Amino acid sequence: MTDLHRLSIREISEGLAAAKFSSRELTEHYLKRIAKIDPQVRSYVTVTNEVALAQADAADALRQAGQATALTGIPVAHKDIFCTQGIKTSAGSKMLDNFISPYDATVVAQGKNAGLVTLGKVNMDEFAMGSTSESSFYGATKNPWALDHVPGGSSGGSAAVVAADLAPFATGTDTGGSIRQPASFCGLTGLKPTYGRVSRYGIIAYASSLDQAGPMARSAEDCAYLMNVMAGHDSKDSTSMDKAVEDYVANLNATTLKGLRIGIPKQYFNVAGLDAAVKARVEESLKKLEELGAVVVEIDLNMTESYVPTYYLIAPAEASSNLSRYDGVRYGYRAENPQDILDLYKRSRSEGFGAEVQRRILIGTYALSAGYYDAYYVKAQKVRRLIQQDFLKAFEQVDVIAAPTAPTTAYKIGASLDPVEMYLGDIYTIAVNLAGLPAISAPVGFDQDHLPVGLQLIGNYWSESQLLSVVHQYQQATDWHTQRAAIAEENA
Ligand code: GLN
Repeated sequence: MTDLHRLSIREISEGLAAAKFSSRELTEHYLKRIAKIDPQVRSYVTVTNEVALAQADAADALRQAGQATALTGIPVAHKDIFCTQGIKTSAGSKMLDNFISPYDATVVAQGKNAGLVTLGKVNMDEFAMGSTSESSFYGATKNPWALDHVPGGSSGGSAAVVAADLAPFATGTDTGGSIRQPASFCGLTGLKPTYGRVSRYGIIAYASSLDQAGPMARSAEDCAYLMNVMAGHDSKDSTSMDKAVEDYVANLNATTLKGLRIGIPKQYFNVAGLDAAVKARVEESLKKLEELGAVVVEIDLNMTESYVPTYYLIAPAEASSNLSRYDGVRYGYRAENPQDILDLYKRSRSEGFGAEVQRRILIGTYALSAGYYDAYYVKAQKVRRLIQQDFLKAFEQVDVIAAPTAPTTAYKIGASLDPVEMYLGDIYTIAVNLAGLPAISAPVGFDQDHLPVGLQLIGNYWSESQLLSVVHQYQQATDWHTQRAAIAEENA
């Protein structure tokens, strides 16, 4: 079969079960495509050829023995922020360019237990800080829809591999939008679960109170399959929730759209910088949801103006603390010929971290320092609580909240956004992390340059099933999610 890369996860699962093809054939097919197409997209940091083929053979053997589950033998790509035993785990940084993880992140281990085959590790903004994937030590990944554009970030590699048909689905992490925004920029579906739904164990930390992993795929259905593997309690992560996991695949039609109340925050549609095409596509998608039975209600989210300043205090503050472990002594990059211990710390960190990471360490250290702690960090935490309360009040009125995922479509590579401009692009995604809520991004059309636009749906706590179900039903009635990126079409 030549079009294995066009199959959905369900189709792959059924094809494997019916012995139409083996995991080995499927895996070889993807590895060949990666070798051929990825030099143009530059999405993989590491391709794990041998590991993948060994896992594929093991999956085929399990199937022969009658022990296969739904996902046994299906390939996946992991963001290079998940620790993978024996495989380089770089977080997109020179600091970890030489780091071979001695253990697997729980998400990776759960994938292995389910029989997933690891194709490799994919590119990202350095330490997940950014919105373009350009801050990676390994250079920029290209957007498969238009190679002179960014795929978004920080999970830009995860989005690019799926959009270019170089993996059927991928893992991502989202601290302030890093699953949803690249999904939006690459015409994919991406779910950021409730904080605590997916284990953070073995995920290189950016901002611990905001970080959460989730699936990135073409459709809500494909995401549901990966969520079934990723979700769950983990005794190794004290912030993971001991709460029963739903069957996200079985629940894909469980939510009825008839009468579903969708809140439209007035403030979100008056944001300066909201692109006209993005606004139009999002409004059209809401019309479609209304046709399918949903009821659209205007709501207020009065804290909107505080999102960016609050997030850009708390996230750098936590990052400055998390990144203090990279000192050139225990692991990671070490400067050569240090004169003394201070020189070793200083040069290892100056040479090992890129500019954006250093900027955030500076902001965070400043905000946490004696004398400024109360004025900045404590204040930001108080505002964070108000942002959460704003959402909870809204959920008394509506079932889900709709918004654009990002104010624009994908930027041009090297558009030289200044940092504040880049931070403002996070306006629609970061509050969700500050509140710990789940949210999903789904493709709803294109702008004048045929770049994808994403609709975001934000749910109340633990409503992942509902979000997937709403998007699934929208996708049953539309075909945006089935459209292929230019480079995928050229290599169909
Ligand atoms: N763009 C945001 C930031 O740079 C979000 C990144 C993320 O979610 N990891 O912080």
